[in-house]
Amino acid sequence: MNVMLAAKLYAPNNIKIEKIPIPTFKENEVLIRIKAVGICGSDIHLYKNGRIASTIMKEPLILGHEATGEIVEVGKGVSGFQFGDRVIIEPGISCGECPFCRRGEYNLCPAQAFKGIPDTQGCLCEYVVVPRHYVHKLPSDLPFADGTLIEPFCVALQGLSEGNVKPGDTVAILGAGPVGLMALQGALVRGAAAVYVVDLYPQRLELAQKLGAASIINATVEDPIKAIRDLSGGMGTDVVMETSGSAVCAEQAMKIVRRGGTIVFVGVGCGEVKFNVDILTRSRLKLTGTFRYANQYPVAIKLVSTERIDLHSLVTHRFSLDKVQEAFEFLTTHKNEVIKAVITMK
Ligand SMILES: [Zn+2]
Ligand SMILES: [Zn+2]
Repeated sequence: MNVMLAAKLYAPNNIKIEKIPIPTFKENEVLIRIKAVGICGSDIHLYKNGRIASTIMKEPLILGHEATGEIVEVGKGVSGFQFGDRVIIEPGISCGECPFCRRGEYNLCPAQAFKGIPDTQGCLCEYVVVPRHYVHKLPSDLPFADGTLIEPFCVALQGLSEGNVKPGDTVAILGAGPVGLMALQGALVRGAAAVYVVDLYPQRLELAQKLGAASIINATVEDPIKAIRDLSGGMGTDVVMETSGSAVCAEQAMKIVRRGGTIVFVGVGCGEVKFNVDILTRSRLKLTGTFRYANQYPVAIKLVSTERIDLHSLVTHRFSLDKVQEAFEFLTTHKNEVIKAVITMK
């Protein structure tokens, strides 16, 4: 049992399942048998184009960073974990030494090795090795597939924290993919008075409504700027969360936010957009980016344990490891049907 199956991306649209050695672990690391891996928008970018934004794949890559599993073995120096523990992996392994890490902003570590993002191998395989500090215990009754949503939940929590969403705030969320839907739930937990969700796909919007959106706006049918201005008494919202990664939405965000409000750019892929600096100045807008997360896993796991967060409804499709290529093809051709697809393993 020293080989395992791994799904490796060789070139755009070309994944092969192959046998590779099970990785070895050091004394501060644990060996995890993977049980479920969520497919993220960034995985789809890499699958289709071999790149995401300026990050380009240079060698065959195992994708996947939203992973849960079971501890198989622990290194000599590891305490607090043992065989059989059900865990979630925090996929961004930072250096721990640079000025960003030392400030606690380890998501900004220039040396961060993020599983499944070039050139770090990911989790779409049977076993992975992870440093002990990047492993967190899953709530005991949470299924492995649902647990994979904790990773995008952390992205959403980081964004809400950057946007400083407060009790009573109105929030517009552009994009009702998994991060948008998790941001909706996180905003409500933070006490938002009303959350308006914009997307192009009815199925996602229906789920947003079920999860507590005050209003849903289908941008193929109505103008989201006008709709949200109307809903917010002509004012615009306190916070806009741009989760779609679309340049069109990034520009709309400037017109949806209220004077003095905050826009948080979460989605990757907007590229260069035009905006009027005078509007920024005269409306005293705050624009902030947000990248991955730091110290959010313990928060996300505690919130999930309270059962106020619905992860289960987001998992709409499941595939086995040998069907990864089919899964990616399905995802790229059925965007309207899929919210989160999860690869599950025995
Ligand atoms: Zn992700
Ligand atoms: Zn660092």
